[in-house]
Amino acid sequence: MTILESQLLPENAAERHTIGAGDYYFAPLKKGQTLRILDLEGNQAADTLFFNAADVSERYSATDTIREQGNVYLTAGSVLRSNLNNPMLEITADTCGRHDTLGGACATESNTVRYDLEKRCMHACRDSWMLAVAEHPEFGVSKRDITHNINFFMNVPVTAEGGLTFADGISGAGKYVEMTALMDVLVLMSNCPQLNNPCNGYNPTPVEMIVWDARA
Ligand SMILES: [Zn+2]
Repeated sequence: MTILESQLLPENAAERHTIGAGDYYFAPLKKGQTLRILDLEGNQAADTLFFNAADVSERYSATDTIREQGNVYLTAGSVLRSNLNNPMLEITADTCGRHDTLGGACATESNTVRYDLEKRCMHACRDSWMLAVAEHPEFGVSKRDITHNINFFMNVPVTAEGGLTFADGISGAGKYVEMTALMDVLVLMSNCPQLNNPCNGYNPTPVEMIVWDARA
């Protein structure tokens, strides 16, 4: 785990948006801009996809990222790579220390398999992404572009047997992860509404998205 604090000050930010649990953030991030995802109350999960803004068929790839860095967890220093193996963003600061990119996002289908048939109607990250895509046709992203993602702040340890477990979060109030865009990207983040596993501490809470312009 790597803990690296940021030198950026929120009062110098270009944009700040608070995103409630169950809501989404879908916006461009220009090359050189830095995005901080701030876990306001702690133990939240931010399920995030990235696309090349110029050609959304190029998108974040967990497999390329993991292979190139030789580590299944993401933290400061991780370069987030695309399905064409191009660097998209670099994590430049991280006070949480570990982020998951294996567990995938929650969906109504996986909720019924993992928990109960009656969970089918519960709000899930995949629904938030689908709503975002439907409400923002200007970005050119469609259902077919929704693939594997990053779960910022989520703790999904790989067991000795090679399995995955959803464990209690290691994030806390005020912890953050920060990344600088290495190309013009689109950021699609669902602030997870999951109530059936401990990824939100069973209490989904807001996160803040803070953007700084490129340093002169
Ligand atoms: Zn979720």
